[in-house]
Amino acid sequence: GKTYTMEGEGRKEKVILRCRPLIEDEVRVTTPMVVSCNEPRREVSVNQITTHKQIDRTFMFDKVFGPTSQQKDLYDQVVSPIITEALEGYTWTIFAYGQTGTGKTYTMEGEGRKEKNGEFHKDAGVIPRAVQQIFDILVAQNAEYSMKVTFLELYNEEITDLLAPDDNSKFCDDKSKKPIALMDDGKGTVFVRGLEEEIVCTADEIYKILEKGSAKKHTAETLLNKQSNRSHSIFSITVQIKECTAEGVELIKCGKLNLVDLAGSENILRSGGREGRAREAGEINKSLLTLGRVINALVEHSGHVPYRDSKLTRLLRDSLGGKTKTCIIATVSPSVHCLEETLGTLDYAFRAK
Ligand code: ADP
Ligand code: MG
Repeated sequence: GKTYTMEGEGRKEKVILRCRPLIEDEVRVTTPMVVSCNEPRREVSVNQITTHKQIDRTFMFDKVFGPTSQQKDLYDQVVSPIITEALEGYTWTIFAYGQTGTGKTYTMEGEGRKEKNGEFHKDAGVIPRAVQQIFDILVAQNAEYSMKVTFLELYNEEITDLLAPDDNSKFCDDKSKKPIALMDDGKGTVFVRGLEEEIVCTADEIYKILEKGSAKKHTAETLLNKQSNRSHSIFSITVQIKECTAEGVELIKCGKLNLVDLAGSENILRSGGREGRAREAGEINKSLLTLGRVINALVEHSGHVPYRDSKLTRLLRDSLGGKTKTCIIATVSPSVHCLEETLGTLDYAFRAK
């Protein structure tokens, strides 16, 4: 089959592919696997040969993590260097992109936090490990710093602040809901009016905030009958570090990290629809679709970047393009039943290269 490769040194975008193992139920009914990963060659192949069709495609990414890869492997090889750079004053955004059920939340949040011995649970994901590493670096540098975090959810182009003070009425009565608005300061900087910014000093404080935010997300889902696979969640950490030059001049270095768990990629409307399967207009996820266009425009340097077309891209505008860097972790399932969506994800991620 044809191999799709990536070229170009010094790109500001990294695209990582992760394939999860079959989960218990899939193993029980001996689900055939159609995805194979070659980690040293950074290749992933999709193969299916039946009397009706023959699929044999290979894609190459910046890194490939197969079904036996551990959370720690992905963290050490991909995220750890990103955190170091962020604390040197860069803005980094890490997206998890893929079909529902392929491991976006497992990768970003994971399951289980710290063990009693201070080590992470093997299933702990990117967010708790990143928080720990940030504090470890700041402490080791004996840095004078200030840090703030925001945590929000985007659903149907509407923003929910996951850190807002408890206000249960908010979820019961639409009229009493305070809308959070995206504002432009006229100079190209976009900010969220009314968004809660928590100043934090320790890793434990952030873990508590994260738990509060996640609980709120679940409450909102239940009360408003939201489908969790249609929302994006964005956790951001901003760190300001005070530095002194040899001449005794004080400088503030500002690093930022956005960790984004995107809506399930099956919510994107693909033009034409695969195998004639037309999708309803209501299924279009504008933000996800626009994100794809924005990434393409940035990568291809094609002039017009359609940031304004969705809230997700307006929100991340400062973090996409310019002096900032992006990492997409595309997640897929090895199952034959996910084949169509897997090819869709690989195509999307490949275009984002
Ligand atoms: P998504 O957020 O993309 O919808 P989840 O993160 O909820 O998917 O993952 C779906 C299921 O698969 C969960 O039960 C999760 O524990 C499991 N899973 C996902 N990725 C992995 C992995 N790499 N290793 C082991 N289990 C995984
Ligand atoms: Mg999820």
